[in-house]
Amino acid sequence: MRKPIIAGNWKMNKTAKEAVAFAEAVKNKIPSNDKVDSVIGSPALFLQGLTEAAKGTELQISAQNCYFENAGAFTGENSPEAIADLGVDYVIIGHSERRQYFHETDEDINKKAKAIIDNGMTPIVCCGETLEQREGGETEEWISGQISAALKGLTAEQVANLVLAYEPIWAIGTGKSSSAEIANETCGVVRQTVAKDFGQETADKVRIQYGGSVKPENIKEYMAEENIDGALVGGASLQPDSFLALLEAV
Ligand code: 13P
Repeated sequence: MRKPIIAGNWKMNKTAKEAVAFAEAVKNKIPSNDKVDSVIGSPALFLQGLTEAAKGTELQISAQNCYFENAGAFTGENSPEAIADLGVDYVIIGHSERRQYFHETDEDINKKAKAIIDNGMTPIVCCGETLEQREGGETEEWISGQISAALKGLTAEQVANLVLAYEPIWAIGTGKSSSAEIANETCGVVRQTVAKDFGQETADKVRIQYGGSVKPENIKEYMAEENIDGALVGGASLQPDSFLALLEAV
């Protein structure tokens, strides 16, 4: 049985004060970690404030990106070692916005996955196709390629313990969520790719999230699907009430 994982991805929203106020508002209302992993993905600037606010509670904290080296002459980047040192649990990598606007490649994502694991954190590795690719019948090959490339060189045990997120680009921030059936089918492609590369046992263990216009009103439909173990949520994770409603629906 795979434990559900609900992660908010705040993207580039909030100030430090607003981030801490959010954590204070939700931290004592989070369901037990035995039942669900409840994660907030924050800009790097607020990670310290959030890990301090969340200390001793069930709220877990994620970064939205990091570099793949721990230190050096890399102006403007954030070290995975330094992020881990703050008490951060997860790092989102390979989000379509990072691939599209910041030219993050499959190779970068693979290096980042290794660096995150080496620093004792859990990568949340995103994949997803454009509307053009879906309409052109290229989804399966594209998703499978992204997953294989991101996980290349990892051990089966490392893969079993990380989190994968399927986010169709056409469903992100558009209000046009994918049907639960399509989301499940494509999360199934992600799982089959893991089975092909790392074996069925690993594929049965790895947790796969769906992301794209998930909200409290539709999360149950996704969570009822066989291949969907959680959600990666943008807009609906920004308000404490809405974030808590997502967790309560699981
Ligand atoms: P929305 O939930 O706002 O569609 O964003 C999805 C997303 O990109 C989460 O990473």
